[in-house]
Amino acid sequence: MSVSAVATDTAVCDPLPVLGRDVLVPLVTGGQIDYAALDYAASAPALQRVWDDVAAYAPYYGSVHRGAGYLSQLSTDLFENSRATVAEFLGCRADDQVVFTRSTTDSLNLLAAVLPPGTRVFVFETEHHASLLPWERRADLAVTYLDAPRTPGQAVDILERALTEREPYGPALVCVTGASNVTGELWPVRELAAAAHAHGARIVLDAAQLAPHHPVDLAELDADWVAFSGHKLYAPFGAGVLAGRADWLRDAEPYLAGGGASRSVTRRPDGGVAVDWHTTAARHEAGSPNVIGAYAIASACKALTEAGLENLVAREQALIARLRAGLAEVPEVKVLSLFGDDAPRVGVLSFVVEGWNSSHFAAALSAEYGIGVRDGLFCAHPLVRTLLGGEPDSPAECGAPDAAPGEKPLNAIRVSFGAGTPDEHVERFLRAVGELVRDGARWNYRTEGGRCVPDTSA
Ligand code: PMP
Repeated sequence: MSVSAVATDTAVCDPLPVLGRDVLVPLVTGGQIDYAALDYAASAPALQRVWDDVAAYAPYYGSVHRGAGYLSQLSTDLFENSRATVAEFLGCRADDQVVFTRSTTDSLNLLAAVLPPGTRVFVFETEHHASLLPWERRADLAVTYLDAPRTPGQAVDILERALTEREPYGPALVCVTGASNVTGELWPVRELAAAAHAHGARIVLDAAQLAPHHPVDLAELDADWVAFSGHKLYAPFGAGVLAGRADWLRDAEPYLAGGGASRSVTRRPDGGVAVDWHTTAARHEAGSPNVIGAYAIASACKALTEAGLENLVAREQALIARLRAGLAEVPEVKVLSLFGDDAPRVGVLSFVVEGWNSSHFAAALSAEYGIGVRDGLFCAHPLVRTLLGGEPDSPAECGAPDAAPGEKPLNAIRVSFGAGTPDEHVERFLRAVGELVRDGARWNYRTEGGRCVPDTSA
């Protein structure tokens, strides 16, 4: 069966088609091939439905919360209805707030900005930098970095111990990822939330990798906040979400000062200005809202719900099983894992190949097979370095000889997928891995601007 026939077959039965399925990319060895997007964990392709919804709305685009005109009214309704749709998708409680941000990074920085003075923050060293780094920027927060656990149960024990040792404390926050952007492994969010709450702490869930693959229900998980990004949820229009408890959001200074966040501004007798800030989500949404971004996220939430997230999960689990079984047949491949083979996971997997520099391997997957993966440390440096066995032995470049057998790898390769991924992409990937390991790359590569690229100079 040809590649295009497989892709077409899948499209027919796929309830969640994505854009880009028929995009052809050049191969360095000659000819073209349809692009196999296996880097959903970085940015997922847009759902066709999201694209269609945005295109249908585009002619009606208008200012939000600002205009008297019909299209402004319509756009304001669309924006606020999008908030309600997202709240429903996330299982928010009645008094939770949904704040539209730019991304998960922005959401977690917003949360860091609104924490009460002196809040103690507990965060695992295994987090993505977006959830690892925002807290220490505020000098008054006391951050405790927790060691990498080797089982989900150990994660709960480590947190319990840290919370107990540091008692008593005032406001406290635990920050945890729902699904690792490196291993795809699920973290025991419900259990961590219970531990946090038992000690009077709150918890924020970084759902950047969880929400696109798995139902997220704030009330059921008993999490206080959740953050995610539209571009990983098939809605790449520059918006993200922070949703959860209203009180700390309402009590803090606005994240950004400006129009939209303020209800009224008056001159004070002393010559300054007095501001009455909103107490709703608008308090942290100063400036003209990104209505298309918010609407795109709401459209994705609806599409995923209507298609049945459980169907998406089942399809993805089958692809994960196939991928893992295929990689297990290649002894040179080592899959990175914190929690072991039996851990529940989403469609994200990282690995290294004995004797290969990961950048070289990823470049060959792209140039010779049309497969897009990611190589590096995936903005989770402490975690990936732990999984790779520590600091690298030598800072080799891809043009330099590949890693010697037994040498600690510099970085890893990540493959990730989701809605709209045809079986053929996973099969092509496994075939490519097998061929590269057995026969080596067919082309020469060199380092250019820090990236490994095919050497076309000869
Ligand atoms: N958290 C996790 C687990 C992620 O995978 C990412 C993105 N790789 C982020 C946070 C940051 O997301 P964004 O770049 O959209 O802010």
